[in-house]
Amino acid sequence: MSELRRDYFENHFTLAPITSIAPRRRDVCPFCPGHEDLLPPAEMVFTREEGGSIRKMEESEDERVKDWDIKVVRCLSPLVSEKPSQPRETRIPFRKVDPVVGAHYVIIPTRRHDGRLSSMGIDEVALMLLSIQEFGKKMYQRKGVNYVLIYYEEDLKGDQHPLVHMLGLSELPPALTGEIQAHRRTMRESGACPLCVIAEVERSGPRELVSNNQFISVFPWAPSGEFEAWIMPFKHRARFFRLTHTSLNRLAEILTPTLAAMAKAAGSFYMIFYTNSLKRSSMNIHWSIRLRDGGSGFEGIMLSYGIRIYKERPEDHAKKIARHARRAMAELLVEKHRRHGV
Ligand SMILES: [Zn+2]
Ligand SMILES: [Zn+2]
Repeated sequence: MSELRRDYFENHFTLAPITSIAPRRRDVCPFCPGHEDLLPPAEMVFTREEGGSIRKMEESEDERVKDWDIKVVRCLSPLVSEKPSQPRETRIPFRKVDPVVGAHYVIIPTRRHDGRLSSMGIDEVALMLLSIQEFGKKMYQRKGVNYVLIYYEEDLKGDQHPLVHMLGLSELPPALTGEIQAHRRTMRESGACPLCVIAEVERSGPRELVSNNQFISVFPWAPSGEFEAWIMPFKHRARFFRLTHTSLNRLAEILTPTLAAMAKAAGSFYMIFYTNSLKRSSMNIHWSIRLRDGGSGFEGIMLSYGIRIYKERPEDHAKKIARHARRAMAELLVEKHRRHGV
């Protein structure tokens, strides 16, 4: 059982526990073509027809699509569970809400086991962006999903099929809440959206990576890592999910070379989307994609969304540490009694 918990005092989230999402059978990758039956039926399948048009389908238990280009499936070892734990804990100090439940899906963006996003062409990246957009909108239709988190990590040394993770959460990730507050503060003080200003000021400047007439990719003025890239629209847009097909293609023209450059310069990196919720109309930050070096093993979710992930539940760790503490206590008491000659 995996669940998200808020801490007692602040707005930190903890996720516990995480089980490996690696293939169950080491010799067979369930995400590779030919092993469709090892996964649940795909809830969305994209195939590119002759002539370039895109077909969107759904799989059923009996009917699997063989010639898929992109598939979206429920994650077999989810970071967040769809149901609250049973039995429910009722005595959680200061907590008014239950642990956060949600949904965890993975987009398989390519048939190739070694097909990293950083080595894809513009058309492939555009289709991947379309699948994120289409499936994200579908996730927002679910009751209880108020935020869809998007996460991809690329480890050049790793041997896992590339996956884009989509987590549907009932609450906003804490880092997004921080970004919204910072955005409001800047709006109050200067009257302008910070990312509108950054996109315009960095255009053709020393930190611009690439740009076209709609999007720019920049290295931020004060990066949070050795290598970082922000991709954003020049015009103030609040929701990635509302982009038109034309804009998705223009975005792919900028994202594709930025992904390639990050892999070349940083080696391993991760990618997240800071975009507003489709269910919170008051959220109005300028949406962006952020790529940063490092982040393997879901570390990027902690670094960029503020959600900590642990391998075991606090209760399980507590059991272990309590056993040590009680043994130590018994030994201390025996020693104390011995000294007092009891
Ligand atoms: Zn594979
Ligand atoms: Zn803006």
